[in-house]
Amino acid sequence: MSSNVDRETFDQIMVPNYAPQKMIPVKGLGSRVWDQKGNEFIDFAGGIAVNALGHCHPELTAALHHQADQLWHLSNVWTNEPALQLAQALCDKTFAEKVYFANSGAEANEAAFKLARKYAYDNFSADKHEIISCNNSFHGRTLFTVSVGGQPKYREGFEPVPAGISHVPFNDIDALEQQITDNTCAVVIEPIQGEGGITPATTKYLQAARNLCSEHNALLIFDEIQTGVGRTGKLYAYQHSQVTPDILTTAKALGGGFPIAAMLSTEKVATSFNVGSHGSTYGGNPLGCAVALKLLQIVDTPEVLEGVFHKHHQITQQIAQFNQKTELFKDIRGQGLLIGCELSEQFQGKARLFLELAQQTGLMVLVAGLNVIRLTPSLIIPENDIKEGLARFNHTMHLFNQQA
Ligand code: PLP
Repeated sequence: MSSNVDRETFDQIMVPNYAPQKMIPVKGLGSRVWDQKGNEFIDFAGGIAVNALGHCHPELTAALHHQADQLWHLSNVWTNEPALQLAQALCDKTFAEKVYFANSGAEANEAAFKLARKYAYDNFSADKHEIISCNNSFHGRTLFTVSVGGQPKYREGFEPVPAGISHVPFNDIDALEQQITDNTCAVVIEPIQGEGGITPATTKYLQAARNLCSEHNALLIFDEIQTGVGRTGKLYAYQHSQVTPDILTTAKALGGGFPIAAMLSTEKVATSFNVGSHGSTYGGNPLGCAVALKLLQIVDTPEVLEGVFHKHHQITQQIAQFNQKTELFKDIRGQGLLIGCELSEQFQGKARLFLELAQQTGLMVLVAGLNVIRLTPSLIIPENDIKEGLARFNHTMHLFNQQA
């Protein structure tokens, strides 16, 4: 394979907000990826929990091609059939009664936070505008979402940030109880903190948050951008706990690689986004909605969701077994195919080295912060690729142990 661009080109012409790996992938099929030089990789990264059906799934490709021959774009001056069908499917499968489409996770959250404020403004008072979020949470990179996010490094240098936002320790019921007041308009929680290190919320915490929100007329928002669309073995992670939010945001895997996001809400809350109050040119465009509808139909089946559960056990048990010899990891955690392996004390801060060494063995993995190796493979990754990928993971562990 030849090309007139390479990794050097990135440094020459791209804004330096990313530091991508040296190899440039050019082709993907299922859970295999090939780079410019024809090197083959097994993909345990899944585009950061996006490629739920791997690369170039034939039914998704067909849905995209079909829609591409029908209608690409209209704007929201007109609605379109794929958007209505997708919204219908999302309502049928969740608590939601209303759907708003966006193009990225941050945009869906931006909509959710704005809606929470508008709902409180419409129904209570302008003072009820405070948003409570958790330390270490991640909700996106717009100014509002970095402000609500619980990682100060993402808002440093971008101040002043919007007012009325506070952060409490994750999974700490007492702290939430102390912070919430009648001026709180929303509490925002990731059912599993993804970027923050693959840390699950306890069911007790989610339940307490639900109760406290109801007591104080605040909305409970679940950010399921990373946990949604089958990633944890249920279509949405909240369905494990039976704690129902008022608003849920979903993106990443929803389009399987085609950019689309959605904010789901109850009818009562949605009413506050009246005509003209919020919008997006591309939100709900027919191409993204056609792909997402097909993806939902495939993912929301017992075969795929039970497969996620089994694959979780296969992968975590095998890594735990490898780990017995090297003790590289002090914790292997997560749910479904959102798996985090936290490095032991002596290897703190070296997750990025693991990612680079994995690539040398022909394996793509991710990190979540400085200390956690994150695995978010395709929900339908074939058995052979799991086995081969785990063998490469084991090889990486040996290399890491020698070099870290
Ligand atoms: N919320 C969560 C929980 C995420 O994991 C992410 C992305 O990693 C976002 C929001 C932001 O999504 P996007 O990058 O599509 O804007």
